[in-house]
Amino acid sequence: MMNANMARNSTSEILIAGGGVAGLALAARLGAAGREVTLVEKAPLSPDKVCGEGLMPSALAQLRAWGMEPDAMAGEDFSGLEYRTRRRGVVLPFAEGVRGRGVRRTELIRALEAQVSRSPSVTRVTDWITAPIWERGRIVGAHGRRGEYRAKVVAAADGVNSTLVRAAGVPLRALGYRMALRRHFRSEDPKPGDQSPRRVRVGLFSPYDLYITPVGNGTLLATLMTDRMGYRAAVGGMERVLRSSPYGEMFESVQPVSRQLGWYHPLFTPRRYCWKGLLLVGDAGGGTDPCLGVGISMALASVRQAERTVLDVLDSPEDRRSLENEFDAGRKNIFNHYSRFDRVFRLMIRSGSRSELLVGLMAIWPGVSASVLDIIARDRPWSEFSWKMLLEPLALSFWKRSRDGAGGL
Ligand SMILES: Cc1cc2nc3c(=O)[nH]c(=O)nc-3n(C[C@H](O)[C@H](O)[C@H](O)COP(=O)(O)OP(=O)(O)OC[C@H]3O[C@@H](n4cnc5c(N)ncnc54)[C@H](O)[C@@H]3O)c2cc1C
Repeated sequence: MMNANMARNSTSEILIAGGGVAGLALAARLGAAGREVTLVEKAPLSPDKVCGEGLMPSALAQLRAWGMEPDAMAGEDFSGLEYRTRRRGVVLPFAEGVRGRGVRRTELIRALEAQVSRSPSVTRVTDWITAPIWERGRIVGAHGRRGEYRAKVVAAADGVNSTLVRAAGVPLRALGYRMALRRHFRSEDPKPGDQSPRRVRVGLFSPYDLYITPVGNGTLLATLMTDRMGYRAAVGGMERVLRSSPYGEMFESVQPVSRQLGWYHPLFTPRRYCWKGLLLVGDAGGGTDPCLGVGISMALASVRQAERTVLDVLDSPEDRRSLENEFDAGRKNIFNHYSRFDRVFRLMIRSGSRSELLVGLMAIWPGVSASVLDIIARDRPWSEFSWKMLLEPLALSFWKRSRDGAGGL
């Protein structure tokens, strides 16, 4: 049951702060298990925020595993990524038959809200969480602007700028920040009748990375990520930056169909993902750079883990400490899966010359790059990557060159 403006001061089994992707998914899962959940979200209507809106195949697989139908959500499939710099470009297709889907964030949130509304044991409250409630050194609830919410288990799912995580004093390791802008445009791309496969286009045009995602109904989402200087230069109207980019032609005669939104995105990792009883779910626990496009996949993976931990803690409260440690270790594994690649990628796209080098290397090793993309996009184990994949194309090109050289003599 969704009681958006219920009486305040509640006690329940689980309190979830934040009703974005992670908070709603967790509430839906725990509600489906018949648990008493209070979900506190500050936005009265389906909250929107800056996001690239590209659901990777792993995110789609998780939603399907939960009985949802992401393919029926308004949106558009994409079959890979296209990377472009000012001088070169490369297309990295997903494996045969694998698809991602561009879905407007508000559409995804509405689908998750519909899941939540099926569970009578979930109470949804509109309030702004301000601080944790402490008892004997542990977090047992949260203060909101309008009330107090106590629970046996408390989860912070209030996003990357989480009030609860900061107010609880969770030790965080800062890894920098990103500024972002987004806007949707009605577009003539693709032209009617054009059946060529759709891709997410990624422009690496330092100091901007530009992500263009098809989200269905002839609509493209353009997201710019940059630093403070780049943000200041673009915030007055991101269309100017879009039109002067190598993708400029696509934005010559487009109609904006959403408000331009801005966003500050700190990058960090917490020392612990369960801090004094508080579970950090989704972006509230930090994550990889948004440029990898796996934030929602990671958020859903963390929900899967939190669901198990919460149910186990409620069933066996005496094992709480060890279950919390398991949650912490599991969350670290989710992050570690992407972190090395994340660091390298982030470093490479920070300057124009390094971006050129990166895309140049992708063009030399398209097979290897597509395999790395497959591991990232489908959440497959890194053990599937082999250095042989790097060396084989080199050996082949060396062999071809010496063969052609020999033929020319
Ligand atoms: C520029 C950019 C591009 C991205 N592109 C992609 C992409 O293409 N694909 C992808 O998978 N991921 C992408 N991401 C990442 C993705 O947006 C996040 O990983 C995902 O939204 C995390 O979900 P969440 O529920 O943890 O946090 P959020 O979606 O941020 O939800 C947090 C919720 O908590 C609420 N809240 C905040 N503070 C409070 C409070 N004090 N009290 C109550 N409620 C509160 C907010 O209103 C919000 O609804 C991108 C992110 C950025 C910034």
